[in-house]
Amino acid sequence: MAIDEAGEAAAEARAAVIGGIARAAKLAQRDSAGVTLIAVSKTHDATAIAPLIAAGQRDFGENRVAEAQAKWPDLRALHPDIVLHCVGQLQSNKADDAVALFDVIHSVDRPSLVTALAKAIDRQGRRPDCFVQVNIGDEAQKGGCTIADLPKLLETARTAGLPIAGLMAVPPFDIEPAPYFALLAKLARDHGLQGLSMGMSGDYETAVTLGATHVRVGTALFGSR
Ligand SMILES: *Cc1c(COP(=O)(O)O)cnc(C)c1O
Repeated sequence: MAIDEAGEAAAEARAAVIGGIARAAKLAQRDSAGVTLIAVSKTHDATAIAPLIAAGQRDFGENRVAEAQAKWPDLRALHPDIVLHCVGQLQSNKADDAVALFDVIHSVDRPSLVTALAKAIDRQGRRPDCFVQVNIGDEAQKGGCTIADLPKLLETARTAGLPIAGLMAVPPFDIEPAPYFALLAKLARDHGLQGLSMGMSGDYETAVTLGATHVRVGTALFGSR
């Protein structure tokens, strides 16, 4: 694709998603300014990302620390206002790298990771906002703490001084996600948390209707991976 064409396609895709967010927010009588669109750029290289930055996108999500380290320092040097979100499972031994690189971490899901992140934050004096990921559909293969473990994990995070902004979840694939979004919203309310990271390409409008403050959209912006 020619550069102009790629630029136009990126701007159109972004406008469509922003339009969807605005429609859903209006339906729920919310201000769409309260919804952050995170462009999940995993597997896509700088050539694919640059047109979206040119279109005005600033929040981006990655799911692997090494991939993000390879891609983002150069792009960020050009655009210092970029906000980088970690949306993937995080090993505790990557906590230092994650705290150094990311502005927001959406995948805090166990006490050992809380401890590792808190140490890294103390050492570096950088404080990325953290979301606790909940395994909302209780699926064996998925990341996230169980609903039963959530109160204790939040307590551990608070004690460790981790800046907890809210809850994150990925509902089960291929079934109606609304009940899971509603449940995550209730859990956040019960714990006095404002942030709700939920909704992907197929269901971000539903998520916004049910209170999402952060939607994580890959395919609808970049095309398929
Ligand atoms: C890949 C990914 C997304 C984006 O998914 P799409 O369906 O491509 O929009 C969102 N959240 C997480 C945690 C992801 O890993």
